[in-house]
Amino acid sequence: MKIFNDINSLRKILSRKQPIAFVPTMGNLHAGHLALIKQAKQLTDNVVASIFVNRLQFLPHEDFNRYPRTLDDDCRLLSELNVNIVFAPNEEILFPTKQEFLLALPSVADTLEGEFRPGFFRGVATIVLKLFNIIQPDIAVFGKKDYQQLYIVQEMVRQLNLPVEIIAGETIRAHDGLALSSRNQYLNAAQRSEACQLYQILLQIKREIISGHQDFLSLQENATQHLTGRGWKVDYIRIQKRSSLMPAQTGDDDLVILAAAWLDKTRLIDNLEL
Ligand code: AMP
Repeated sequence: MKIFNDINSLRKILSRKQPIAFVPTMGNLHAGHLALIKQAKQLTDNVVASIFVNRLQFLPHEDFNRYPRTLDDDCRLLSELNVNIVFAPNEEILFPTKQEFLLALPSVADTLEGEFRPGFFRGVATIVLKLFNIIQPDIAVFGKKDYQQLYIVQEMVRQLNLPVEIIAGETIRAHDGLALSSRNQYLNAAQRSEACQLYQILLQIKREIISGHQDFLSLQENATQHLTGRGWKVDYIRIQKRSSLMPAQTGDDDLVILAAAWLDKTRLIDNLEL
């Protein structure tokens, strides 16, 4: 396995490989990331994983500085999966000067995550586009765990005619249902055992919709009250249309429930398709 920091030598190696599947990450790899890598490996032997904690997608008060950075462990896990190429640039490589060109995004990027983390998707889309330009993958794999991110990347590829096929990976969960996330390690023991309630409430909403409840606003409100009563601070719990990520109306059947909520200082997100 080769680890690259530099763009030119990475490009030189990649020019001889085809097709290329790309899995972008911020590192601190867990079984969720590794499932995406395995999915990529099934499509081609030429898998590139990137590890880069992207400053552009963090607000000034967010956890950019304390985000876990574990490059050695990550590379060990990737080499166990026979990943050939890791791109782990430092900031000077990707941002040799201030990144002043930033993408303008559609209004869906101002909803849900974007409502609570203004500029987040602009930062994500800009770095994904840069990485696509550097690596020029044929395929890129993104997790459904970050459902709105996956949607926005798919829209970016479609609307900007990028020659890359986006593949979605299912969310990998802990034994109690909590979606794996690098941020789970911020939780103390009591918070960790409470954390699975986020997924439980998504399951509860799904059950209620399947059994005929169509008043989506009251389902959202009840779920919010339930978590708030257990000590959570809920940013949103929303029932949206999968095709547009706009609020679902009675009768819609392509639904996804998306949620973000805080346990003390840790923000967790999750979602569930119907
Ligand atoms: P991150 O390192 O958090 O930027 O995530 C890198 C990629 O891994 C993204 O496409 C995420 O959606 C995906 N991912 C993160 N957690 C999970 C999970 N629990 N299951 C599946 N994919 C995940």
